[in-house]
Amino acid sequence: MRVAVVDQSLCRPSKCGHECIRFCPINRGGAKCVWLDEETGKARISEQLCVGCGICVKKCPFHAISIVNLPEKLKKDLVHRYGPNAFELFKLPIPKEGKVLGIIGGNGIGKSTSLRILSGKLKPNLGRYDNPPDWDEIIRFFRGSELQPYFEKISRGEMRAFLKPQAVDKLPRVLKGEVGALLSRIDERGVLDEVREKLALGNIWGRDVRKLSGGELQKVAIAAVMLRDADVYLFDEPASYLDIRERLRAAKAIRSLAGPGRYVVVVEHDLAVLDYVSDLVSILYGEPGVYGISSLPRGVRAGINAYIEGYLREENVRIRDYRIEFYARPPPHEWRPESVMFRWSDLRKRLGSFSLTVEGGEIHRGEVIGILGPNGIGKTTFVKMLAGVLEPDEGWVEGLGEVELSYKPQFLGDIDFQGTVADLFDTLQVDTSSSFVQAELFRPLRIEPLMNRYVSELSGGEMQRVVVAAALGRDADLYLLDEPMAYLDVEQRYAVARVIKRLTSERNVATFVVEHDIVAMDFLATTLMVFRGEPGVRGEGSSPVDMRSGMNEFLRELGVTFRRDPHTKRPRINKEGSWLDRYQKEVLKEYYYVVEEKGEEEE
Ligand code: ADP
Ligand code: ADP
Ligand code: MG
Repeated sequence: MRVAVVDQSLCRPSKCGHECIRFCPINRGGAKCVWLDEETGKARISEQLCVGCGICVKKCPFHAISIVNLPEKLKKDLVHRYGPNAFELFKLPIPKEGKVLGIIGGNGIGKSTSLRILSGKLKPNLGRYDNPPDWDEIIRFFRGSELQPYFEKISRGEMRAFLKPQAVDKLPRVLKGEVGALLSRIDERGVLDEVREKLALGNIWGRDVRKLSGGELQKVAIAAVMLRDADVYLFDEPASYLDIRERLRAAKAIRSLAGPGRYVVVVEHDLAVLDYVSDLVSILYGEPGVYGISSLPRGVRAGINAYIEGYLREENVRIRDYRIEFYARPPPHEWRPESVMFRWSDLRKRLGSFSLTVEGGEIHRGEVIGILGPNGIGKTTFVKMLAGVLEPDEGWVEGLGEVELSYKPQFLGDIDFQGTVADLFDTLQVDTSSSFVQAELFRPLRIEPLMNRYVSELSGGEMQRVVVAAALGRDADLYLLDEPMAYLDVEQRYAVARVIKRLTSERNVATFVVEHDIVAMDFLATTLMVFRGEPGVRGEGSSPVDMRSGMNEFLRELGVTFRRDPHTKRPRINKEGSWLDRYQKEVLKEYYYVVEEKGEEEE
């Protein structure tokens, strides 16, 4: 089966020489395989006539065309296609009553599409966008799986579903008024106080929705779904913008929804959160923007491990040609005094009513300092002082010798660049032809298709990919990365983490990374700085300490312990009050994975 996809946002027939049409060998032979659609004005490709030569794919200057060959037997599993030459979704994740189903997969692979279908908002067309089936036929399509009774009830209105959308930053456009008033209007279950407590919404209860930060909006959006009296609760990326404490709070709150007669489904890229919130995991794989296939649900440990390994045994599918490697112990580091590259004294900074103090410290060549702490505690303020964007009120920062900086700010909204992505890389002197930049940054972050787009027209996620690639692709001595993983999917996060590690050790540079994804942080940092205090009021940053002390200090405050998966070595959060959780807290006094869980366990 041939699938030809034309990305509508990339195809620009007014700006190219219609290479796809001119060079197609079928067209040249007189048939109509590629043409411009009269309605949309964009390229159309006949999947019947196409022979899969790939010439149009290579010739398109905007990388708008993808053509893949899929096994014929997949045809019968086609659940949805948005339109002609559009993305195709095969199979669906199967929610399980009383359980939390986690969904893991790359960006553009069909996770949000799957959630919208499961919510009943998007009626699956089984590929027949021009002649969509009715519910009876759709229900027959799912015969034999738990999705049959599921869609029977959804279609008859016997089950209600609510979905927390991915993009919470758009909510202020549709929601108006004070948080408390807004939420109390939709409190169908009479659990307003409980939800307010569980998500710690007290301090923003009286605030106008339009004045909330990203993390605050996220919590309100999660609350708005939890308050509904529904049978199906769906959450699309609930951890975005939240700090670790809030991520765990949200995860616990979402878990508490699971119960008899209820279905809960969560899409998430933070592996610790996904692991913690889910009972089962479905993996979505395929080719981003082209097609996606849902795997059968697995137990949460086996599912996440399979994803990390890149191999689905039951389906016998390799979804990636490498595995994501974790390391059992933090590598011990003896820093030599002569390798110090940058140092700072005790620092003080006041911003409005917020005051920050940071203990003095230094960073060495080859060192990645991870910065952990809640939102609003001064992490960005500290990084800005290192970058020279902000002057400390007291204290100094100093590079030893020539230190070239590369800084990726947290918020990209201020970036006001006239020109294309290619122009931006040019301006920042990124060597886009180097094999390192191509292989380690552009391929995993899918930069090539963005090259001719205008920077001002990029979405938040696209902007993040470009800015991270630019920051890491530049030659520098000191890299300052403020929340580089936001918006990235799991594979992109580990690609970025790997680059940071390699770059820092092989080129002998140094890197600071602020990040809330604790599994990613564990993977990439050699040293930690922990920020604590009272968010928005007062922050205190520690000097850099080794991973184990830093994690211990940080996790103790959160009251959370970690173990290591014996197979993949990835860190896992212990269930609160479990034997291991108590043993680590009370006997070992170790919050950070000194313990490997037993091989067998669960499933
Ligand atoms: P994910 O949530 O995994 O990032 P999505 O389900 O949002 O992926 O999107 C999967 C693919 O479907 C993407 O290529 C996206 O561009 C495409 N897509 C999403 N919505 C539409 C739509 N309304 N019309 C056409 N294509 C769409
Ligand atoms: P973090 O990066 O840890 O989330 P920030 O360093 O961005 O925290 O901010 C710490 C606190 O300082 C926040 O309460 C923020 O609102 C406040 N703040 C940041 N910049 C300014 C400013 N220019 N004027 C007043 N307050 C500010
Ligand atoms: Mg910040």
